[in-house]
Amino acid sequence: MKTIDTIYVNGAFIKPHGTEVFDLISPTDNGIIGKVILGDETDTQLAVAAAKEAFKTFSQTTKEERIAYLQKLYDVVKQRESELIEVMVKEYGGTLHFCTMSVQNALSGFTSAIEVLKTFEFQKIVGKSKVMLQPLGVVGIITPWNASNGFICSKLAMAIASGSTTVIKPSEMSALQTQLLLECFHEAALPKGVFNIVNGRGDVVGATLVNHRDVAKISFTGSTAVGKFIARSAVDTMKRVTLELGGKSPNIILDDANLDDAIPMAVSAAYMNSGQACIAGTRLLVHESKIAEVKELLKETVEQVKVGNPADATTVVGPMVNQKQYNRVQEYIQLGLEEGAELLMGGPGKPEGLEAGNFVKPTVFVNVTNDMRIAREEIFGPVLSVITYKTEEEAIEIANDTDYGLQAYVSSSDVMRAKRVASQIIAGRILINGLYHDPLAPFGGFKQSGIGREMGVYGLEEYVEPKTILV
Ligand code: NAD
Repeated sequence: MKTIDTIYVNGAFIKPHGTEVFDLISPTDNGIIGKVILGDETDTQLAVAAAKEAFKTFSQTTKEERIAYLQKLYDVVKQRESELIEVMVKEYGGTLHFCTMSVQNALSGFTSAIEVLKTFEFQKIVGKSKVMLQPLGVVGIITPWNASNGFICSKLAMAIASGSTTVIKPSEMSALQTQLLLECFHEAALPKGVFNIVNGRGDVVGATLVNHRDVAKISFTGSTAVGKFIARSAVDTMKRVTLELGGKSPNIILDDANLDDAIPMAVSAAYMNSGQACIAGTRLLVHESKIAEVKELLKETVEQVKVGNPADATTVVGPMVNQKQYNRVQEYIQLGLEEGAELLMGGPGKPEGLEAGNFVKPTVFVNVTNDMRIAREEIFGPVLSVITYKTEEEAIEIANDTDYGLQAYVSSSDVMRAKRVASQIIAGRILINGLYHDPLAPFGGFKQSGIGREMGVYGLEEYVEPKTILV
């Protein structure tokens, strides 16, 4: 069993001042697999001071130098790719398939930043003025437990690309993965203080970063509730914020879609990362004339969904990250029944033989209406709600009738029609006839799914501030 008893400040692994111990619990059998000593406010202050000092010189580096640093980071992470995947699977029970994708996203965070830097202009002539795009300064990076490597790397990459320096506060639940990632970063030998990592609680380390006058920006991925709290607190120091928050993504199956393709894809979209994904397609919108056929296909597909050991390459649904999340999902399944939705597959309780872990039965509700709480709130588990519509206009209306706006899906055999529908959906990213990821395209949410964009040139622009010079 591993104990993580260091934080990383100013280029060195040091003992934290904090003494609180957090147990790392296996989601697969609820046994203790590690411990982490959490940093405190003093540790965070030291990390911010180191990043502030480093910014003086790092902000003056050329983009060629920063491309070289990003390439080094890519290389060291790439070298330990399989180890990173293995620890991720073990620590939070993500499936092998999802964790592999997450580490690939971590790597593409660096390549995306490199690509953007190659052509990005940090100085422009606008009117009679010279406009310089200045790096912001010290950036606080706060990440969730799900797909944490991907978020840490893509945020760090863009901050570095801009010439900013960072203090990273990962989720306390992803300490083992972060430690491994940190060993990689350390090997890349970047200038001291450019990145600092403090394990700790959100209301201690996270809050210190958010309230710190020397932190210029917070880049946050996590729940909408915490995101709102951060945005409110950030106002006091007028910090810039990028917030990547929750979702309740609609998946519109148009009446001309090839259902044999669209329904298995819909199940994959709903159950990705065992349903613990901000972009999960959790509301399936089906034309009323197709509902009987869709129900049959859903039954067939979900019956085949393998639940169990996340390290097994054929597993689709692994355990929920912890008991709290398991209980939350169970409460929503119960709520669906009470709200009058019809249970098509799954339901309350654990699948047979998997009682020791936080496993949930892949669940599908039909006859759901968009005003039910199971259709409005982020459940973060393998629970799919099927809603019927009569016309294309109504499908779009239901899709947009949500507080969220992160991602949406459309299936149709007519791509032009699907694009027309996509143009009317209020969401940051819309996927047509498949599941894709483009690391150069902006990613982020409308409405309560967040503020700002990550990845590509739009991502880099979030880390710079224009400064006008007139002679
Ligand atoms: P969370 O909001 O509970 O925690 C996220 C991070 O914020 C953690 O590091 C936590 O310690 C920290 N935090 C908590 N309270 C804080 C405070 N008062 N001040 C500063 N920091 C604080 O989220 P989670 O349970 O770790 O992750 C799941 C959530 O993340 C879901 O809602 C999901 O939709 C969302 N998410 C969004 C995206 C996206 O890109 N939009 C991606 C993944 C996850």
